Amino acid sequence: MRVILIGAGISNALISFLLRRQYGPEINLLVFDKGRSIGGRMTTSYGSEENRHCFVDIGAQYLTLTKSNSTTTKFFQQLIDDRVIELLDRQNIIGMHEKPDKIDYIAPRGIASIVRYFFEQAVVEMNLSKHITKIDLNSTNNKFGISTNEEKLDEAEAVIVTVPAPQVLTQFKGSIAKLIEDNKEVKDKLGQVKYSSRFSVGLFYPPSITNLNIPWRIYYVDKNENDCLRYLAIDNVKRNKNEPPFSLIAHTNIEFGAKYAEADKAIIGEQIKENIFQFLPKLPRDISNTKYHKWKYSQVIQSYPDKPGYVLLNEHPLLVLAGDSFAAESSFEACIEAAIETVKKISGLFK
Ligand SMILES: Cc1cc2nc3c(=O)[nH]c(=O)nc-3n(C[C@H](O)[C@H](O)[C@H](O)COP(=O)(O)OP(=O)(O)OC[C@H]3O[C@@H](n4cnc5c(N)ncnc54)[C@H](O)[C@@H]3O)c2cc1C
Repeated sequence: MRVILIGAGISNALISFLLRRQYGPEINLLVFDKGRSIGGRMTTSYGSEENRHCFVDIGAQYLTLTKSNSTTTKFFQQLIDDRVIELLDRQNIIGMHEKPDKIDYIAPRGIASIVRYFFEQAVVEMNLSKHITKIDLNSTNNKFGISTNEEKLDEAEAVIVTVPAPQVLTQFKGSIAKLIEDNKEVKDKLGQVKYSSRFSVGLFYPPSITNLNIPWRIYYVDKNENDCLRYLAIDNVKRNKNEPPFSLIAHTNIEFGAKYAEADKAIIGEQIKENIFQFLPKLPRDISNTKYHKWKYSQVIQSYPDKPGYVLLNEHPLLVLAGDSFAAESSFEACIEAAIETVKKISGLFK
């Protein structure tokens, strides 16, 4: 059995991991992503080749476990045992809500190392820089084929797509578009999924900078303090590494993200950078590198109705939509629960 997974984010990493655990070597897992690196919104961004030890978690920041959730606890425990994650130190964090039933973890090697871990455990064939634009049924062999604008890439008996729902509606041509068009209920529900938008700015410091003159590791910015910034972290300190090279990550609030959702990320990024230096006047300005990212689809503000974890578009051959659009919320924990539901459903349909 061959399974094509479109999207190299945490949802497909978990789905691959669960499929491998269930089927062992009899399944071939082929992952395709338009990006140049794995992780999706759980991505780690590096300053430069010369300053490889300087990096920031540019999207997701930390993982939150609900202590009473015995299902997700097992996944967290495996990551702890294999030294992929460790506790977030709660000291010197400003403005974070106390949640008695929750516990937070960081990834010392960057948040993308969590996604990489599950893909490695699953032993997948990874194909990056492949922007899929078409998913089409080949009726002669009853398989779905996937293509970029330039070439036909592969085909399989099962295709799992974990791209955010608004992008599913606009990015794909071929049978997938027709299946959605012909199913009014699914089309309407996909149209109801809404995401917030945010910008991220990462500042990378050379090893010669030994102090950022900042007394906290994470700062949640209140709306009354600043109308652009929402979250700031000294990223290496957040990852329990309080030594050079230093890096800082800033996320804007969602109102700012919505206002500039269609704007050029470099122009807005410069504006955000100036905002950071005004907000933190003691922050050194001699950075070695800056990275900007626009998350047009950042976190789900309205999930697919009833949050089923997945949507089945076709049974044989199998075509499934999954990912955080169908989960309870945009979080690692919710992605675990959605991936479990997805695999439960599709494994019943594998011939
Ligand atoms: C700024 C920010 C902060 C966050 N903070 C946290 C946090 O602290 N804790 C937490 O748990 N969660 C957080 N989240 C949410 C979390 O990152 C997401 O819920 C989770 O990563 C979603 O994973 P996914 O695999 O479903 O989707 P994604 O990670 O978006 O993966 C989808 C993949 O599909 C690829 N793709 C899209 N279109 C195509 C195409 N046509 N062809 C090929 N590939 C394609 C994309 O490149 C992407 O890699 C945050 C998210 C953001 C953006």
